[in-house]
Amino acid sequence: MPEQTSNAMGTTAPAIPAGLLPDAAYYAGLGLSSIHEKVLAGERLSPEDGLALYHCPDPVAVGALAHHVRTRLHGDAAFYVVNRQINYTNVCVNGCTFCAFRRDDDSQAGAFRLEKDDIMARLAAARKSVLRLDEMHMVGGCHPTLPLSWFEDILRSIHSSWPDLPLKAFTPVEIEHFSRLEGISTLEVLQRLKAAGLVMMPGGGAEIFDEDLRAQICPHKADATTWLRISGEAHSLGLKTNCTMLYGHLETLEHRIDHLCRLREQQDKSGGFTCFIPLPFLTENSRLKLPEERLGPQRGLDQLRTVAVSRLMLDNIPHIKAYWIMMPPKLAQTALWYGADDLDGTIVEEHIGHMAGSSAAQGMTIHELEQMIRQSGFRPVRRNAVFATVAQGEAH
Ligand code: SF4
Repeated sequence: MPEQTSNAMGTTAPAIPAGLLPDAAYYAGLGLSSIHEKVLAGERLSPEDGLALYHCPDPVAVGALAHHVRTRLHGDAAFYVVNRQINYTNVCVNGCTFCAFRRDDDSQAGAFRLEKDDIMARLAAARKSVLRLDEMHMVGGCHPTLPLSWFEDILRSIHSSWPDLPLKAFTPVEIEHFSRLEGISTLEVLQRLKAAGLVMMPGGGAEIFDEDLRAQICPHKADATTWLRISGEAHSLGLKTNCTMLYGHLETLEHRIDHLCRLREQQDKSGGFTCFIPLPFLTENSRLKLPEERLGPQRGLDQLRTVAVSRLMLDNIPHIKAYWIMMPPKLAQTALWYGADDLDGTIVEEHIGHMAGSSAAQGMTIHELEQMIRQSGFRPVRRNAVFATVAQGEAH
């Protein structure tokens, strides 16, 4: 049975109800009888089911179905990680139209590129403050000249300084870039990075898989087939990876469902996706301007519904993340009731979401993350990069 937890008022919050679902008649009234039955039976939902969930007038009923599934998978656990995020450069050859993070070259205003010593110093400081890091998360732009050997050297140096620190780095987009730069296969790039200490890859760069949309928002980066192939190659080497979807820009609901189904299909084949992260598009600093009807307060509800639909459609991916950098922390807390089971981590320093317009803090302490989770009525569980549970509460 789930334990009881203290909420913000210092009183005891009720444990998560086992069957927090309206009855079958209610779902029948919404035209969702067969979806309700499939969810209770643990059966796969079709693309049409996914669209019906998006069109359902009652988002709370959709959230309750997703909550039922996340509770079946994870009980009252909500995961977090004590991590340090490193963005090594924002210089990038790709030029995606939505990206507010990228700079053309090293000399442009706002461009940055960390040296190995900077990265080592940041990790050393983070370890000092939390006693133990459970993940190093490193991603960056596709820099025109940084060779693969530069990244291998960094991974090796980190691994030799802190052999117990799980190294999570490089999206499939970066892997494809290294492959082009070096004139070697993506599989060889992955093999070399794994040999240097890589154990996990983040899931960025998936954006939205539809080819026409991709031609509009990210014409130069790895295409959908390549992104999925590289993920499969990583899985074949025993590397775990995450996956994402950037939504709330030009795409339709059909594009979102298509994206989720392509991830589900890849997972059926290669099985190495650990967590899905739906990433709401942040409009503030983007060159991609949206029509008026796409902006506004309804976006919060859309984010919750997208978390819920993702949980229900991705029946073969264990975790769904409410990434508190990209969705406001209060909404991320609410998302724990809409199918999410992970909040990501302490982070410490983040540039991609903040340059896009995120107003979230740069980092959170372990105490703040655990409070967020407890105040939402869940039980905090500390995990590492590959989602293995680790001992909690070693530091602040
Ligand atoms: S989204 Fe990534 S690949 Fe695209 S321009 Fe920005 S940093 Fe480069």
